[in-house]
Amino acid sequence: MEGLSSRFGSTMRTVVQWFFMFWVAGIGIRFGMFVNSVESGATSSLVSRPAGVEGFLPIGALTSLKYWLVSGEIHPVHPAALVIFLTILLMSLLAKKSFCSWLCPVGTLSEVVYKLGRKVFGSNFRIWLWLDLLLRGIKYLLLLLFLAAILIGMSGEKIVTFLDAPYWAVSDVKMLHFFTKMSGTTMVVLAALTFLSLFYKMFWCRYLCPYGALLGLASAMSPFKIRRDATGCTGCQRCSAACPSGLAVHSSRAVSSPECTGCLTCVAHCPERDVLAMQPVFWKQPLPVWVFPAVVVFIFMAGIGSGMVSGHWQSSLSYSDYQRLIPLVKNLSH
Ligand code: SF4
Ligand code: SF4
Repeated sequence: MEGLSSRFGSTMRTVVQWFFMFWVAGIGIRFGMFVNSVESGATSSLVSRPAGVEGFLPIGALTSLKYWLVSGEIHPVHPAALVIFLTILLMSLLAKKSFCSWLCPVGTLSEVVYKLGRKVFGSNFRIWLWLDLLLRGIKYLLLLLFLAAILIGMSGEKIVTFLDAPYWAVSDVKMLHFFTKMSGTTMVVLAALTFLSLFYKMFWCRYLCPYGALLGLASAMSPFKIRRDATGCTGCQRCSAACPSGLAVHSSRAVSSPECTGCLTCVAHCPERDVLAMQPVFWKQPLPVWVFPAVVVFIFMAGIGSGMVSGHWQSSLSYSDYQRLIPLVKNLSH
């Protein structure tokens, strides 16, 4: 029998995931209305631009991070991108890759798709271990390319030119158009990824997402880890079978893999009481199951709140800036 308390973690996660999904959808709709006002020639918008939309600009955020490190100041165009990026990084440093399994809408949708695949085809499939390891390397390679291109390849001067340019100013609009004016190629790629995700758990997250790769590396420092009490473990392997990241939980004292997203699925599937738990290394007693979800949500709220309170949330661009720049969007490229 699965323990009630261990299932609580999973239920909490579902609630947080869907709350966040609807919140993000609300941000998207509101930003769409804002852009629509500009595009339709209205002199003002009924809704203000939601700064949270900048969460979709992680590459620009990385550029902003370098600007901050070099100049000591936060660039005023799209500062929320950096605030969200740093918050998510902090979440990983303290609470595993929890952004991926608790908040990221792509992660939530990927879960829906693989569970649908399991219903339709009876089970999900596993790629041969050697190929799985090889494919997992792709996301680290992509991360390396981005880090090298931005942190090493772009001089301080180039960074300033990029952040001051119209391209960065309207990158949020370009991102919106990516979804609302999807090209044929984008549709084919998304359809292929969805198709593969039906068969293989978390295909995008596991093999291709460079953001997840960065968060995984940062999560190595997390004091929270899944810990297994070997004395009470019967070796049934239900934890490993359920793990969406395909980790061998049943044979680890503590799961240190950068692939662990802190989803607590293994905990929910362990039939033994107090054998598996998400615990900080310094805490030896069983920890109430609500603690980890509370830590995850608290870090996120605290990070975003700090950005808002310190005045690094709203972009410096005005409605008239968007009126001037949006007609140029089609012709702007970096
Ligand atoms: S080890 Fe547990 S918490 Fe980590 S990804 Fe696997 S199921 Fe989720
Ligand atoms: S940790 Fe729990 S689910 Fe995993 S092998 Fe041991 S008893 Fe089974």
